[in-house]
Amino acid sequence: TRQFFVGGNFKLNPSTLAASSSLIGGLNSAELDPATEVVIAPPSIYLLSAKESVRSDIKIAAQNCYFKESGAFTGEISPKQLVDAKIPYVILGHSERRTLFHEDSALVATKTRAAIDAGLKVILCIGETLEQREAGETGKVCQAQLKAVVDVTKEADWSKIVVAYEPVWAIGTGKVATSAQAQEAHADVRTYLAEAVSPAVANNIQILYGGSVTASNCKELARQQDVDGFLVGGASLKPEFADIINARK
Ligand code: 13P
Repeated sequence: TRQFFVGGNFKLNPSTLAASSSLIGGLNSAELDPATEVVIAPPSIYLLSAKESVRSDIKIAAQNCYFKESGAFTGEISPKQLVDAKIPYVILGHSERRTLFHEDSALVATKTRAAIDAGLKVILCIGETLEQREAGETGKVCQAQLKAVVDVTKEADWSKIVVAYEPVWAIGTGKVATSAQAQEAHADVRTYLAEAVSPAVANNIQILYGGSVTASNCKELARQQDVDGFLVGGASLKPEFADIINARK
């Protein structure tokens, strides 16, 4: 059985170190289901202080990284630097990176390859826009985003990848996917990975849902067979994040 996994993607929040510390202080004193794997992704400038201050059962993720180890790449951080800093995870391919920062699936795949080679685990985000969903292209879009990574990985690499299905129309909009919509998309991802990689990988990989997850909608989503956890944005900055971590309790 797949371990339940909840990630908090803080995005560009909060905007002071003091607020970041108090957010982590809140998590440190929360009662969290020990059966859930919990990862938080603060902005890169707060990664080290978060790592030093967070409880040992919560792991840290970067929100992005480059694919080079070092060099003349102004503004970037490297997989090797994250590993050296003992940051075990990186989020790659978030829709905000794809849309606002023009990252295409080939770049996301190159970054995924480099991150795994350096020793990181990757939270790989995929998902369709509203236009694509309304055109009936959800499966096709998710498969194309996954295929770019399938093309540069071996079967063993997939034990280092968690997939986050985040429909773009649900991110930050308050419009959560229905549990049926999430279940269908997650099952499609598993079916695709069974064919493109292997049935074992498809069965073992954790597939998270992301997009307007809250304390009030998480329990029903968490009951779906192929929903193995969440990637939470806005609600990860609030006390209700603990309730989402405890969705299966
Ligand atoms: P919200 O939970 O704010 O909709 O964001 C989801 C997300 O993008 C997590 O990566």
